[in-house]
Amino acid sequence: MKASVLTDFGKIEYKDVAEPVIDDDEVLIRVACSGVCGTDVHVSQGHHPAAKPPLIMGHEFSGTIAKTGNTNEKGFAEGERVVVQPFYSCGICELCINGRDNVCPSLRIFGVHLDGSFAEYVKAPGLRVHRLSDGMDMKQAALIEPLAVALHDVRMSGLQVGQTAMVIGGGPIGLLIAEVARMNGASDILVSEINPFRKALLAELGFDVVDPKESDVLQEALRRTNGAGFDRVFEVSGSKPGSELMLHSVKIGGTVVVVGIPAGKYPLDTDLIFKREIRIQGARIHAQINFQDAVKMAAQPQMLTVLGKLVTHEYPLSELAAAVETARSSSEVAKVIVHSLSGSSNE
Ligand SMILES: [Zn+2]
Ligand SMILES: [Zn+2]
Repeated sequence: MKASVLTDFGKIEYKDVAEPVIDDDEVLIRVACSGVCGTDVHVSQGHHPAAKPPLIMGHEFSGTIAKTGNTNEKGFAEGERVVVQPFYSCGICELCINGRDNVCPSLRIFGVHLDGSFAEYVKAPGLRVHRLSDGMDMKQAALIEPLAVALHDVRMSGLQVGQTAMVIGGGPIGLLIAEVARMNGASDILVSEINPFRKALLAELGFDVVDPKESDVLQEALRRTNGAGFDRVFEVSGSKPGSELMLHSVKIGGTVVVVGIPAGKYPLDTDLIFKREIRIQGARIHAQINFQDAVKMAAQPQMLTVLGKLVTHEYPLSELAAAVETARSSSEVAKVIVHSLSGSSNE
């Protein structure tokens, strides 16, 4: 099969590789579309500690069943349209049996620890493969994975109907968190973002945006909440200023969710956390139930529209290097989609 392989850090080659061989409990998937994620950019630059070339990156994808293993618990038939929760976990540790498979110590993620979807075919554990509803576009379906991240983040925050939410960092994940929070009944949502293109996209979707380059975000957060701060704050920027802002813009007794992969190890004001009883919650990838529910949520008309608007660039599989470069360096990018099928883009 053809694949775009990370053959060395900073080097992606479109070449022939062996097709994956499936075990009894696995299925082979013919890839339709894959999203390029910040993780792929980091992996390609050698900034991810676990990922080593040669590697096929890619973990946000849609496709069709090409072959099933002997077990085939879910009864898949060839040609069925599917998406995949893109990791293997042990299934038997305390975290796995409590539904927290996303933080299993034996976690192996597609496109990081093992080959991913920037190829014609990818293999996956059958139990992590989910059928798509009829009519779901394969392009939007590839964004179910980042939607599942947002759904996981909002659930981990414990956001209740009528509460307020602030999102620090309005890229694709921040935007999807804002959308899930809105669908979940948040009464007021404020997004902090500096990139003009992303600001415009957020505004188009009806979100209020504040730009730290243009105004004092903390002052605006306090003004909007009558000095109290937000019930829930999502730190998606992974930046040091974000790690400081989150503690000052959350209300007393509120919850901060750390979503963005921090670019460093930042000290936190423990006195503030203590005095204001701030709950700090990490949120990594997505638990299986949240991926499962994201598949259903993606089929809602409002969410379909949002997922469609997120796609700003499209490339064929042979041009993955250009696709990753666009995701890394373009100032006018939300989501880059890579098509593995040479013909139709919506098989
Ligand atoms: Zn991703
Ligand atoms: Zn486990």
